[in-house]
Amino acid sequence: MTNQPLPYASPVVLLAPLTGRIVPLADVPDPVFSSGMLGDGIGIDPAEGRLVAPCGGTISQLAGTGHALTLTTHQGAQLLLHIGIDTVELGGAGFRALVSEGAQVEAGDLLVEFDLATVARKARSPVSVIAIANGEAFHIAQRAEGMAAAGRTPLLVLRPAAGTASSPAAASVACSAPGAQVRRIVKLTTPGGLHARPAARARAAARGLDAQVEVRFGDKRASLDSVVALLGLGAGEQAVVELAGIGPQATLAVEAVEHELTRAAEGETAPAAPSVTVSRADGVSPLAANTLTGVCAAPGIGVGTLVHLDEGEIDLPEFSTTTPVDELHRLDQALAAADAALGATIRNALQRGADAEAGIFAVHRVLLDDPTLIDAARDLIALGKSGGYAWRTAIHTQIAILAGLDDQLLAARATDLRDVEKRVLRALGHGPDVHSILPDDAVVAAGEFTPSDLAALDRKRIVALVMARGGATSHAAIIARQLGIPAIVAVGDALHAIPANTQVVVDATSGRIDHAPGTRIIEQARLERQRLLSVREASRKLSGEPAATRDGHQIEVAANIATLDDARSAVDNGADAVGLLRTELLFMQHQLAPGITAQCESYQAIVDALQGRRAIIRTLDAGADKAVDYLALPPEQNPALGLRGIRLAQVRPELLDDQLQGLLRVRPFGAVRIMLPMVTELAELVRIRRRIDEFAQAMGRTDAIEVGVMIEVPSAALLADQLARHADFLSIGTNDLTQYTLAMDRCHAGLAAQSDGLHPAVLRLIDATVRGARMHGKWVGVCGALASDPDAVPVLIGLGVTELSVEPVCVPDVKVRVRDLDYTQCRQRVQELLCLESAPLVRAASREAWPQLARTNQAPWSR
Ligand code: PEP
Ligand code: MG
Repeated sequence: MTNQPLPYASPVVLLAPLTGRIVPLADVPDPVFSSGMLGDGIGIDPAEGRLVAPCGGTISQLAGTGHALTLTTHQGAQLLLHIGIDTVELGGAGFRALVSEGAQVEAGDLLVEFDLATVARKARSPVSVIAIANGEAFHIAQRAEGMAAAGRTPLLVLRPAAGTASSPAAASVACSAPGAQVRRIVKLTTPGGLHARPAARARAAARGLDAQVEVRFGDKRASLDSVVALLGLGAGEQAVVELAGIGPQATLAVEAVEHELTRAAEGETAPAAPSVTVSRADGVSPLAANTLTGVCAAPGIGVGTLVHLDEGEIDLPEFSTTTPVDELHRLDQALAAADAALGATIRNALQRGADAEAGIFAVHRVLLDDPTLIDAARDLIALGKSGGYAWRTAIHTQIAILAGLDDQLLAARATDLRDVEKRVLRALGHGPDVHSILPDDAVVAAGEFTPSDLAALDRKRIVALVMARGGATSHAAIIARQLGIPAIVAVGDALHAIPANTQVVVDATSGRIDHAPGTRIIEQARLERQRLLSVREASRKLSGEPAATRDGHQIEVAANIATLDDARSAVDNGADAVGLLRTELLFMQHQLAPGITAQCESYQAIVDALQGRRAIIRTLDAGADKAVDYLALPPEQNPALGLRGIRLAQVRPELLDDQLQGLLRVRPFGAVRIMLPMVTELAELVRIRRRIDEFAQAMGRTDAIEVGVMIEVPSAALLADQLARHADFLSIGTNDLTQYTLAMDRCHAGLAAQSDGLHPAVLRLIDATVRGARMHGKWVGVCGALASDPDAVPVLIGLGVTELSVEPVCVPDVKVRVRDLDYTQCRQRVQELLCLESAPLVRAASREAWPQLARTNQAPWSR
């Protein structure tokens, strides 16, 4: 064999890079290789741990773990040399690279030494692969069989694709796998050609059959397993493609694919550029073409410029700070999270009868699973790149291929890839830089805001928030209410199609967003906004006074807060106390769980800011929709039903211990009442109460420490009498109580309108809670969003709740409402409501019974 550079058109002879038995590619025990996804090639079962250069060239890529590299030959062929199967997971153990990236090598040069025993023991298989990564430029003309000696046995002969009679794909299929070969010429009659949906359908049709199918168009080929590769063929409507299948069920598979590529799916037309559609969850009256509707999450009106929060380019570190194994794990988790979210979106679309929308997202789901994307990302990670960078690069490579196609429709599929890119980046924890993108009077739109997105926004510039997904009791909605910013959730994905910078009017109270409205509508909206602000101002004037009903029944109106700023806002708005301090934000703001002293300082600052008002501080309720990344909790299949609230102490007892000690140190003693989230039965309360007593005793505290329980799950409501015997108070978390009673995810956009705390089943549980507490002379509050719902205020008071804890900005208005009520009448009317059959009936009856409670800007629910 020669070591001399060959003229470009000459064949390239590759020597065996390893000593051992030659394995046909189809027999390599990993479908990623055996199906030719990473290129045509050959395997060797190594007999010794030395990898040498099969020819002269440049080391163009070297995995940080040393298990794989790419050598670009002088003629331009890119050879992937991959030692063993799944060896990236060894994290470099047992591998020693003797070259670095960019090194020039000659045939026979030693490239990597590896411990064959380790690889044989720990990896899936030691069989190693030599694959031609740029199969479009070179194909394999000959391949050796039998035994190979490293640096001596000629293993493969490559020929440049130009000038060869047969295509590389043909060579690959003909040579690399046993079994039947089936070929079929097919004219693409599906509208739009081989775009994403037929590609996904074709892939699904051949799934489960023992065959590999390739689609060839001109000199390009794509495995059926990869939708992005299929799109990259650029085969438009009426294009003629060849289907090539191998394997025992090749005929069936090719026929199934042919069927999918030639049929017009029912009701399917060529995909068009996204257009803004009108969606209305309740399917009632038609709306103007430039109106979308959703569910009110925080009332009010905003007029401003639309900004898509998801659109900013995200800054990503190129290199990972962890090992490739960890980074791969992170990527896998992010892909799984994105997949789960897409699953939920699809179900939601189907429930709304939005089949076309569901179809689009089904394709996104297929893209998430695409071997071309995943393998490219995994290879980059193996080279030391960060997960985000690797994923983005893999996507952008495919986007560039699509952008180069003549076919407009196929090129437009880049939007699908971008969407999938963002989803995964978000799941990896990369959000857009929101600071740099907000104009004054911004109406900020997003698929779904996370609490951290909202925490990072410059609230002074925002006039409204709009979410495509999410529920009215999701944490993003709660934060929007806390910020006093009008907000709508569950608008649907049509929101993304409104161009950025469009002037919009958001009437959050009635759940509408008008884009491109006329000047008259803008003017009216501005006037209405002013009017609402003055109503709010008027009720603020009286808010410092306590609130009692007309017949003298005192109701404490407290505030739900999370930060020191909120505490100041609670005081400004006249809150009588703090009825719920959510401590999750404090944990989210740290890089590691704050210690006893840091926590005590934060709580102390808040207590000081409250100027003598008492604060109910809830212990950490991380988990479910309140993720604290660094806690690295085990992944949950059903996060809402998993380790959240006090259950966290089962796996991280030190978190609760530290927090309790931090809380007990706050002065003056008695200013803080401790509240426990997600209690389901008495034993949990008793255990934690005992722990509190131990800590208090160790500190020398002898005063009584008030401990309350959140009633958030039906079991706690039903056992309220038992809990109340040992608790000082009960506070009903109607957000979760509704979620768990109705089995409706509180963040689910499709259920946002039904997931209503005024459902009679929830009201009966509230009734049971109050009755249970009364048996022991304990008081009951409500700290869920229902407490600020104008329709609910008289109902809750009628049921015997004596504290309403609401967002600070809602305090003045809730006080106004309380003063408008007659307690005796509330007691009487509420019994009738408990007998009604649905939440809408309860709402209607409440409005009829208390017509004086006119809806104003503080009406959080406009159903
Ligand atoms: C609730 O569930 O109603 C509640 C107040 O707690 P959170 O919203 O924080 O879960
Ligand atoms: Mg809760």
